[in-house]
Amino acid sequence: MVKLAARVTQVPPSMTLAISAKAKAMKADGLDVCSFSAGEPDFDTPDHIKAAAKQALDEGKTRYGPAAGEAKLRDAIAKKLQKDNQLNYEAENIIVTNGGKYSLYNLMMTLIESGDEVIIPAPYWVSYPEMVKLAEGTPVIIEATASNGYKITPAQLREAITEKTKLFVFNSPSNPTGMVYTPDEIRALAEVVVEKDIWVVSDEIYEKILYDGAEHLSIGSVSPEAFARTITSNGFAKSYAMTGWRVGYAAGPVEVIKGMTRLQSHSTSNVCTFAQYGAMAALEGTQDPLQTMVEAFTQRRQYILDRIEAMDKVSCPKPDGAFYVYLNIGETGTKAMDFCTKLLEKYHVAMIPGVAFGSGDCVRMSYATDLDTIKEGLDRLEKFVATC
Ligand code: GLU
Repeated sequence: MVKLAARVTQVPPSMTLAISAKAKAMKADGLDVCSFSAGEPDFDTPDHIKAAAKQALDEGKTRYGPAAGEAKLRDAIAKKLQKDNQLNYEAENIIVTNGGKYSLYNLMMTLIESGDEVIIPAPYWVSYPEMVKLAEGTPVIIEATASNGYKITPAQLREAITEKTKLFVFNSPSNPTGMVYTPDEIRALAEVVVEKDIWVVSDEIYEKILYDGAEHLSIGSVSPEAFARTITSNGFAKSYAMTGWRVGYAAGPVEVIKGMTRLQSHSTSNVCTFAQYGAMAALEGTQDPLQTMVEAFTQRRQYILDRIEAMDKVSCPKPDGAFYVYLNIGETGTKAMDFCTKLLEKYHVAMIPGVAFGSGDCVRMSYATDLDTIKEGLDRLEKFVATC
């Protein structure tokens, strides 16, 4: 038997990726599966983005590039952050990474040492605690309860901070709950970050996917003091339907970005060069396709909320952002893991159990899929729930 390193054996595989791979494999076997598993827009990457990458290929942009990313893309990202997020970064404050996921992993590896504590509100995205563990840090989970709209309070954050706290992981709009902190709530959390002098990483990958007038505020823009302690993580996957392109980025103080670049120069090197040209076009070209996606998500979300409202034994809060609903299945009397296993095996509907996100009686349903699949999947969910 191969003895793998403990760092790997201590972390389970990503459940979001595992369940979505299983759903895809079942489909490939000819089964009629409704997959609400991975948060992956069903839209194709917009044409002008694909055209820019094709042109880059034709122009021979096929070689190694700078480890931190193409200068033009770093520049375009800095401009975007200034314009959209009121974050005054220059190109030197930006690192382009292999997806938003690697920006977070790289940051953990750059900032966290053995014994450091990292505060993560639950429900959290599946990979945050595992990344902390891989960096030999200690995840400290604080619970954002359903009764508080799945948001933590400044008091909760303050209480969780010890002298070992290095970093607070903040994610709004949230995966998996879809909740969005209001600007005032974000300002109040930023005050604690500044007062306690800790770092915050703000995962803003869903910033553009908002409903009912919800507003996104970057925590780093709240004050110069908050700015100095914030690393902002983002990417192109969700807003531009570019999940497979693997282009994300982090922005922060030069010293942190330089550290991350050093690590990147020994790990992934630069992100695929021609993919970075596609990302430039995403930022600089029309934003209409994003608008079209958000309109579709809005319609799907409303449909799901109406259907769930009419169902017995399941409920969910109204999400203000992202493309997830977080179903409370407590009244079914079935544990989330069993619930998802049976739902997939008997009804061919894939959802992710709350255990992946650090919470119990819930399952996450992604509606980054077409309305016909949503309708059929909810019909099956309704039938299944009736048997529970
Ligand atoms: N972030 C998406 C999700 O939560 C994609 C899969 C993953 O990387 O976890 O479903």
